[in-house]
Amino acid sequence: RSVMAAAAAKLKDADALIDSVETFIFDCDGVIWKGDKLIDGVPETLDLLRSKGKRLVFVTNNSTKSRKQYGKKFETLGLSVDEEEIFASSFAAAAYLQSIDFPKDKKVYVIGEEGIQKELELAGFQYLGGPTDGDKKIELKPGYYMEHDKDVGAVVVGFDRYFNYYKVQYGTLCIRENPGCLFIATNRDAVTHLTDAQEWAGGGSMVGAILGSTKQEPLVVGKPSTFMMDYLAKKFGITTSQICMVGDRLDTDILFGQNGGCKTLLVLSGVTSLQTLQSPDNSIQPDFYTNQISDFLTLKAA
Ligand code: PLP
Ligand code: CA
Repeated sequence: RSVMAAAAAKLKDADALIDSVETFIFDCDGVIWKGDKLIDGVPETLDLLRSKGKRLVFVTNNSTKSRKQYGKKFETLGLSVDEEEIFASSFAAAAYLQSIDFPKDKKVYVIGEEGIQKELELAGFQYLGGPTDGDKKIELKPGYYMEHDKDVGAVVVGFDRYFNYYKVQYGTLCIRENPGCLFIATNRDAVTHLTDAQEWAGGGSMVGAILGSTKQEPLVVGKPSTFMMDYLAKKFGITTSQICMVGDRLDTDILFGQNGGCKTLLVLSGVTSLQTLQSPDNSIQPDFYTNQISDFLTLKAA
């Protein structure tokens, strides 16, 4: 049996935490916004942190948009965030391919939405697939044989509302038959919160379909994998112990911070309740927890 991690402490002195780090990495959904709604007090909190000279970075596992599209979303919500400060798992997939010098004459098969396509395009990679393959049907007549492109060297899988059997078969053929073809997952979130009425099957469900047919484990570039943390540390020249990772989810955000050696703060403004955090079934304990990031404005040492 593993040793229990120390239970998370309720954040009491925000200034002490702020003073102890140089960079804040914020998860987006559940921390900055919920769906299309800004969480209370976020603009003021980001302003405060910027006025104290902190570097702010935004990381989301939602691969459906590109960083440019997220830039617009921040703007629409009245937040001044540069697209260079945003690291979505769509961008991470393209950055990963760049980091391994994925050949420009090879192609990427995309099972996912527009965000992944836009980031691949910006990075100069050739791709096929994407949402339009959602219209493709398979004619199951005798002797039917599905062709696939032998130049596909990577299959990138993310959340996909246009997912179908054609894509599963196409991606499977590439991974199984093209020598060295990579299987990259933007993220493996089990559930997402498309609406607040229920939990919806997340990107992990599309990844699971390809895992099921290929028996291959994907290479994950989103949280909680260390790829983005290493990338950020290198890009900004930050020591990870100088980072505080702020998120609403234990098995992605908090694990991402812990895997990277960062300080971690769980906010209860998203998917995790205090009850879940404190449940004996939960082994992931952040350093601190608080209700929402605007608590930074009010929590002062006694
Ligand atoms: N993936 C999808 C499709 C989502 O809709 C969401 C949240 O809305 C996420 C992932 C998780 O995003 P984040 O990492 O910003 O919490
Ligand atoms: Ca989140």
